Amino acid sequence: MVNCMLTEPFNRAKPIIETIKKHNHQAYFVGGCVRDYLLKRPIGDVDISTSASPAIIQKLFKKVIPVGIEHGTVVVIHEDTSYEITTFRVEGGYSDQRHPDSVKFIDQIDKDLERRDFTMNALAMDLSGHIIDLFDGKKDINAKIIRTVGNGYERFKEDPLRILRALRFSSQLGFQIHPETLKQMKEISSDIESLAVERITKEFTKMFAGEYITNGLQYLKISGSYKYLPIFSEDPDLMEQIPKSIQPLYSFGEVIALLHLLNKERSIMEWGKKWKCSNQEKMEAAALVKAFEYFQTNNMDKWLVYKLDKVYYNGFIRIINIFHPGRIDNKDILDVYQALPLHSRKELCVNGNDLIHWFPNIKQGPWIHDMLTKIEKEVVIGTLINNKSDIKDWIKWNPPEVN
Ligand code: ATP
Ligand code: MG
Repeated sequence: MVNCMLTEPFNRAKPIIETIKKHNHQAYFVGGCVRDYLLKRPIGDVDISTSASPAIIQKLFKKVIPVGIEHGTVVVIHEDTSYEITTFRVEGGYSDQRHPDSVKFIDQIDKDLERRDFTMNALAMDLSGHIIDLFDGKKDINAKIIRTVGNGYERFKEDPLRILRALRFSSQLGFQIHPETLKQMKEISSDIESLAVERITKEFTKMFAGEYITNGLQYLKISGSYKYLPIFSEDPDLMEQIPKSIQPLYSFGEVIALLHLLNKERSIMEWGKKWKCSNQEKMEAAALVKAFEYFQTNNMDKWLVYKLDKVYYNGFIRIINIFHPGRIDNKDILDVYQALPLHSRKELCVNGNDLIHWFPNIKQGPWIHDMLTKIEKEVVIGTLINNKSDIKDWIKWNPPEVN
């Protein structure tokens, strides 16, 4: 059976295509999933392209979310997985460089593939594993080349996000950008400034997480695109300061931490604001920077490991390794964590009430919190045992400082 060729994510999505076809419409797997299938990379989302209109798709399936009906996209939930199903379309102009001004639904896949960004992404695959490849995408994939579908100058002009997409694919896949495409990217790169920041941030985050990040950064530099990104546009030297020992960073919080550490004059707040980040990303960056700075003077001691939220351990190791390659690894930090006498303040054998009870004559105030922090630190670093009587004894020699 030819179908056996399809791998698991495609087989799971197969009933969707079968349903559409049963109703006399065409449907194909399309875009990144076909590319990644050929590259034998893990498949992210399986996207489907169809001649059926969004209204028909909505009727054919029970669980649907009309995410972008006007652009022809409907999400279908099948066995707990969501699939974007997009009607074959051609796009009108891109006057705001955010969304096409208009889209027109069509019933042939050819023109739909033509509107796609790169040859490697302009592939469609049917249920038998046959691939429609109108622009030599397979050849480019084999040669590891990123090349626009059609005239790059026009394609980048239409949607300058494609410039950043080329960079992020070069970082994710380790591909070269075709010299002609690169030349056209350079010519259009200032148009990046007209993009919605959120779109930029999304691609930039993916770029930094790419396995071939040095390749991506090399292209970011030689294409000159960085000069049109927020903050980089005011501070282009930043690009030169990114260490050669850069490693993939898996969240934008880690990226901000790195870039802030390269130039402390640009605060985390400023990065957050100009790149429109979430509070969570800003908090992550702040925690990583704090831990990094502590590490610079104290190395990785128990206090650092105790204070740093466990969810940031891997990111912290990644940042340290960019500045001090090979100094510490994940096992080192986990070993310290495991050896901690205390993992959270809740485990401390005394609390505020004990202190009030022991010092009834001192008016309640910030001294309670300060004292608890001191005790906590002594216990964490191992100079004080975490039991009530030891702590009480220790306090006798280290009474609260109250003015
Ligand atoms: P990923 O693995 O990151 O999802 P992808 O190639 O699937 O990569 P998506 O952003 O999911 O990227 O887009 C799906 C497909 O839609 C692409 O493969 C491409 O064919 C097309 N596409 C996406 N964005 C654009 C764009 N800005 N211009 C033209 N075509 C695009
Ligand atoms: Mg995708």
